Amino acid sequence: MRCASGAASTPSPASCPSPLWPGQRTPGSFPGHSRSSSTARRRPTTTSPTRPHAHTPTRPHAHTPTRCKVCATGVTDPGRRAAVSSRGNVLCPACAQATLLSYRQQLDGKPYAKVRENGPPAQDYLCTLCDPPRPAAAWDHCHDHGLIRGPLCAGCNTMEGHGKDFLTLQGSTAHLLRCAHCRTRRTLPTNHQLAALRRHLHLERGTPGCDWPLHMCVTLIDAGSSGFDCTVRCPGERRNRSVSFQLTPEEADRIQARAVEEGLSDPS
Ligand SMILES: [Zn+2]
Ligand SMILES: [Zn+2]
Ligand SMILES: [Zn+2]
Ligand SMILES: [Zn+2]
Repeated sequence: MRCASGAASTPSPASCPSPLWPGQRTPGSFPGHSRSSSTARRRPTTTSPTRPHAHTPTRPHAHTPTRCKVCATGVTDPGRRAAVSSRGNVLCPACAQATLLSYRQQLDGKPYAKVRENGPPAQDYLCTLCDPPRPAAAWDHCHDHGLIRGPLCAGCNTMEGHGKDFLTLQGSTAHLLRCAHCRTRRTLPTNHQLAALRRHLHLERGTPGCDWPLHMCVTLIDAGSSGFDCTVRCPGERRNRSVSFQLTPEEADRIQARAVEEGLSDPS
């Protein structure tokens, strides 16, 4: 559908039926923070030099949606506009799916170094994780074993690199287990093992429905042979309820093993 307002000088977001890529939480975007950080990013730089300390009133949706290269529909991707582009061209969800390939696991388990050298480029594909899928930006691969796991968009790939909240994405554990070595050893890659513990403890002991980044809710301190000293406290909790306890190495192993089994049985 075309945007009714059309002209760039009169953005009318309220009446513009721009397709919106579903919000995907990033480590820097969580309750109480998303508005200020996204506003800072989007504020036009041309207004600031003359009044560096003036507060520009916040206009909701102050930016004009970028136009899809193919159909010219306005595309908005809050806070992560780079993620919608393929080779520098912005594509709406429909055109991305019409023009890019869906990944069918055909390169799973191939050495990343070879694919990087010989192709195909990840930009030919849609992200294998988000829905609707954004254009992929990189071949995600296991850093422990160097094997391809699939094409990811810039947003999903950044979350994977941070290793913190990636496991909160639907299908992420199954995705990590597309590394054949991780799968046969039934382990998560090293950079996601603590995150799997955090995710489990947060689900079990955190505030139900809490949407804060896991590392802000769950603290894990490696206590060597006695396991982990853990504290769970969700910042959104009204009372400063915090739970401290110890996790034995055996319990930690069990939690991670269960996460692997869940990932292996995930059909996504
Ligand atoms: Zn389009
Ligand atoms: Zn993605
Ligand atoms: Zn691996
Ligand atoms: Zn929480």
